[in-house]
Order: sequence, then C-alpha cells, then structure tokens
Amino acid sequence: MAILVLGGAGYIGSHTVWELCEAGRDVVVADNLQTGFRASVHPKARFYQLDIRDREALDVLFQAEKIDGVIHFAASSQVGESMQDPLKYYDNNLHGTMVLLQAMVAHGVGRIVFSSTAATYGEPERVPILETDRTLPTNTYGETKLSMERMMSWVSRAHGLRYVALRYFNACGAHPSGLIGEAHDPETHLIPIILQVPNGQRPALTIFGDDYPTPDGTCIRDYIHVTDLAQAHILALDYLLNGGENNVFNLGNGVGFSNREVVETARRVTGHPIPAKIGPRRAGDPARLVASSEKARTVLGWEPKYADLETIISTAWAWHKAHPNGYES
Ligand code: UDP
Repeated sequence: MAILVLGGAGYIGSHTVWELCEAGRDVVVADNLQTGFRASVHPKARFYQLDIRDREALDVLFQAEKIDGVIHFAASSQVGESMQDPLKYYDNNLHGTMVLLQAMVAHGVGRIVFSSTAATYGEPERVPILETDRTLPTNTYGETKLSMERMMSWVSRAHGLRYVALRYFNACGAHPSGLIGEAHDPETHLIPIILQVPNGQRPALTIFGDDYPTPDGTCIRDYIHVTDLAQAHILALDYLLNGGENNVFNLGNGVGFSNREVVETARRVTGHPIPAKIGPRRAGDPARLVASSEKARTVLGWEPKYADLETIISTAWAWHKAHPNGYES
C-alpha cells in the first residue's frame, strides 16, 4: 500500500517525499524531470520517469504498484510564463490532471491531495483571506488551478473520488538537513533571488514597486516554509484515508512581510549588505496576500513550525550557499 507523489522531484514535491520516507511510509514518485531533479528524490522512494499526460505510462504504474492515495504536484507554476504561454498551462495543468483522473477512476484509486494556490483568489476582497472568499484569478496559472479544483469536484460527484485542494501562499526555505532545497531555472521568486546577491551571482536585486498602499510601499506576502507545507500534505492525505470529505485549505503563516522586510532579514541572516534598487511594479501583483490558515489548523491539526522569517531564510541560505547551482553542483 503506497502513496504516489506526482511531481515528486520538484521543490515542494521533493520535500514532501522526504518527510513521507523519513516517517517510514511506502512512497512511489513519478516526475517527467522537465523542471524537477532526480537527485532531489529520497533514496527510499521508487521512481518512475513519466508525464501525467501519458495514459499508458500511468496504466503501467497503477498496475505495478498498489496505490492508496495520490499527492499531485505535477504542474507548471510560473505566473509570468502562464501569461506568455497560457495554452502550456491548460495542457500541463488541466489536460494533465484530466488524464490522471481518468487513470485513477479506471484503476479504482479514489483519494487525491493536490497543489492549489493563493492565485485562485486574485485580488483579495479582504485580508486575511478565508477559503470561502471570492475566487477570481488574475492570471492563467491561478485560473488553471481553480479549474483543477472544479474538475475534482465534478469527478467526485460522478465517481466518488475524494480530494483536498491545498492553496499555498509563498513557499520558501529548504530542508533543515541542507540536502534538498529550491532550484528553479530561471529563478523568479524573491527569496532565492535575494540570496543570489550574497552568493555572488547577481550584483543587486530589484524590488518591483514601492508605491503600493502598504506601510513601506512594497508588496506584502505570507511566507510559509516548505517543510511545513510538506507536513500539511501528509495530514491532508491521512484525513482523506480516514474518511474525510472533499475540502479546500489555505496554507500560510497568517503573517505578512513586505519585500523590504524580507531583504532586511536576509541582510541580517547573511551578514551581506545586499544592495536593492526600486524598479517598476510587476504586472498582476496584488499589494497584500495573507492567509487565514485557521481551517487547516482546526480540521487537519496542522501546526507550522517555521513561523519565524529569520529561520526560514537561514534554511534557504544554508542550501543556496552549499549548492549555488542547485542540483547541478
Ligand atoms: N519580487 C521583487 N523582486 C524580484 C522578485 C520578486 O520585488 O526580483 C517581489 C514580487 O513583485 C512580489 C514578491 O516579491 O511582490 C514575491 O514574489 P514571488 O515571485 O517570490 O512570489 P509570488 O508572490 O509572485 O507568488
């Protein structure tokens, strides 16, 4: 009886696989390695290189392994790219999930936890954001994730599949062991970009806009450690395996930090001056995104352990300093 992690060689996937394996669970990983890294997969997991749009490959896997439940991370996740190439997102995220669900229904696998996103909300009506708030995505990435949630809901009605959608806020940090961490090419996320400066890979960073209606004028985000996210996936899967109903949960710290505060904290952690200049706003950036994660705490018993931004950035810095070229080095 194994747990199948799709996209288990990616950033959040590999950290979830790590926690599952360390907890003694039987884990199967599938990843097409387009953005993931074989080296990030825990040695105890059985690995299949496949694309979830490949029904035959999924059939082979479901026939070879006895799968109890699925954790689904296999999707494209760059907001900017989703605006340049929206059909890639419909193909990878929606078409991919459709093929996956067809295979799950055919093989009688009926439990799935999957990555959704704060981008399903778009510009929030209020902060902190509740799961029942309006969902009106402002980019293709968020749109396809919201459509994935809806697809699960209809498939659930027809075939009895049960699902949990986890809407992440800003995933960050690295495994405390320093063995695995974040590696994107190109890198677009704030914390790894900041850390490229003390790592000698860029002279300075640009903060996108300082004229937002926030105390210091820069955007505010809710940063949540990747290991805390990993634990939430395991709790959500166990919730489903114990009979829990379809559900949607926000995952964040409930605390917002401005872009300037993040840079300031990184300066303290690294001891490097990290020059930062102000540039124009980035299209589609809401001023303030902060989660209410009360529901995940109450229903799943989730307790984030890395609430402190300094600790989060310290784990990221340990990883990036030791692996300046990600898994290539
Ligand atoms: N950001 C920035 N400079 C960069 C990269 C990001 O000022 O080089 C800002 C971005 O505009 C947003 C915040 O950092 O306000 C977090 O962005 P990120 O891409 O990390 O995550 P997102 O909030 O888009 O999911």
